[in-house]
Amino acid sequence: MRKLKIVVISPHEDRIPVQAASYRAFMPSYGLFPIVSALKGAGHGVRAYCEASGSKVDWRVVDSADAVCLSLLSFSSHKGYEYADRIRRHNPDATIIIGGAHASVLPEDCLRHCDYVVRNEGEAALLALLNALENHGDTARIGGVSFIDENGLAVHNSSAGFIDKLTCVADPRDILGYAARTPCSYFLDMIKRGVFRFNCAIVQSSRGCPFACKFCFVKYESGQEYRVKDPKLVLEEIEQSVSLLKTRYVFFADNDLVGNRSQALELLRLIEQRFHGDIDLCFFTRIFTAMDDEMMRAIERAGRACLIVGVEFLEESALDVFNKKQTLRDIDECLDRFGRYNIKLQPLFVFGTDTDDINCVEKALALVLKHKCYNWGFSSLFDFPSREKVLGQPQVISDHRFIHSDWRFYTGNFVIHYPARMRPSELQREMASAQRRFYRLNKEAFHHYYPLHATYVPYIEFLEKAEEGLYNNDGTLREDLLPSKHMETPRIDVSFSRTVLWKEIASYYFVNMTRIQSWKYLLSLRNKAT
Ligand code: SF4
Repeated sequence: MRKLKIVVISPHEDRIPVQAASYRAFMPSYGLFPIVSALKGAGHGVRAYCEASGSKVDWRVVDSADAVCLSLLSFSSHKGYEYADRIRRHNPDATIIIGGAHASVLPEDCLRHCDYVVRNEGEAALLALLNALENHGDTARIGGVSFIDENGLAVHNSSAGFIDKLTCVADPRDILGYAARTPCSYFLDMIKRGVFRFNCAIVQSSRGCPFACKFCFVKYESGQEYRVKDPKLVLEEIEQSVSLLKTRYVFFADNDLVGNRSQALELLRLIEQRFHGDIDLCFFTRIFTAMDDEMMRAIERAGRACLIVGVEFLEESALDVFNKKQTLRDIDECLDRFGRYNIKLQPLFVFGTDTDDINCVEKALALVLKHKCYNWGFSSLFDFPSREKVLGQPQVISDHRFIHSDWRFYTGNFVIHYPARMRPSELQREMASAQRRFYRLNKEAFHHYYPLHATYVPYIEFLEKAEEGLYNNDGTLREDLLPSKHMETPRIDVSFSRTVLWKEIASYYFVNMTRIQSWKYLLSLRNKAT
């Protein structure tokens, strides 16, 4: 079999601030590593670029590739489509394949710009597809692949199933430009962005989640079977990444790091043994981890841990409707319990369900302040139009309730639907204001740079126009006035305010100068460097 020249690109939308994490850290999407590793393992020549972690695409390489794989997150999909269209013009013989989270939920949108879509966990399906293409085999039956058939109709093969064994050891060298940061790269960040970004290693210990919360895509993307990696391989992955990237920050791309208790305890023991607590670990887990004293002690010993936990809703009925399998009492007890341990806590919330009114944001803010949480995260209720019709996956937002289909704003940070009991602009304004208030009131926290405020201002103006005449005076939605089906509006006229952006940068420095946490953080950087 002829070995192919393959380029993998993960584009990053940085022309408008719509997502915060990439303004703080260089960290690729973990999914790129198993893809690159599988392609290399099959003997193909691979060049991989991830713009969110420092890569600059070399178009000469792209223009001579046999196949180009674009891994897309929704907020970067416009840029990804532009890249795909450019590749089509400059390298018409290349096969263009789109994968990633965006392609998994909107395959038909992607198929307007590519030859094939690989949905969900992609390494096995991608290899099978390339193999079939190279050997003139049948591409029509490869599981998890979508394509346009000879009649011009989109075909979505049923999912391929998930791989049994997790063996990938992420190697940062596989992604061009994802390397140790230098004083010069920090300086360039300061010049270009006003703030600098640090390297964060990304590793993975498990895939999948046995729960089936209705608003969550994990059951489709990674399945409900919880699969784990050998803890020794995870440790190898951590060691390799922190050493090459010269960082102490490690993020786990797991849905719940401690889903398999014995595997997690062994992993934490290995990390403790190797790093003696001198490492920053950030991972997702369920709130009930707080009730497992042995696990919490193991986490404390392993390193400086930040636990991101899904609280999601503060209405019993919403917890029930979305199948969250936790009660308000559980939430309060578990958050209380986390407070006994030397960890940082970051609860997550979802706002804008049909039971939420405008007080939902304030309630969440009060809860995180009460429990002295290090940070918090929230998302407006999130979904994609046409998912049910195209893929048969039940939606939590009906098609006619979406305000637009400009995927740049599908990050969770922007209200994209008409909530039942408050105007979209009210919810957006409340989310923006609560974010500011959290950092103002929580004096223990490092004040994070949050460039999205610069986009919130014009976005709220857009929402105010969109909702005109659709709400009663008491703030309830007049659903009968909505169009019966979703109207495609792939590009809305929203930019960002440079004045607000510069104010955000100024307040980032000013507030942090007065925070003990910030000085501790700077000191820790200095200690690590010496
Ligand atoms: S527990 Fe978390 S990862 Fe699992 S389905 Fe629920 S929200 Fe998704």
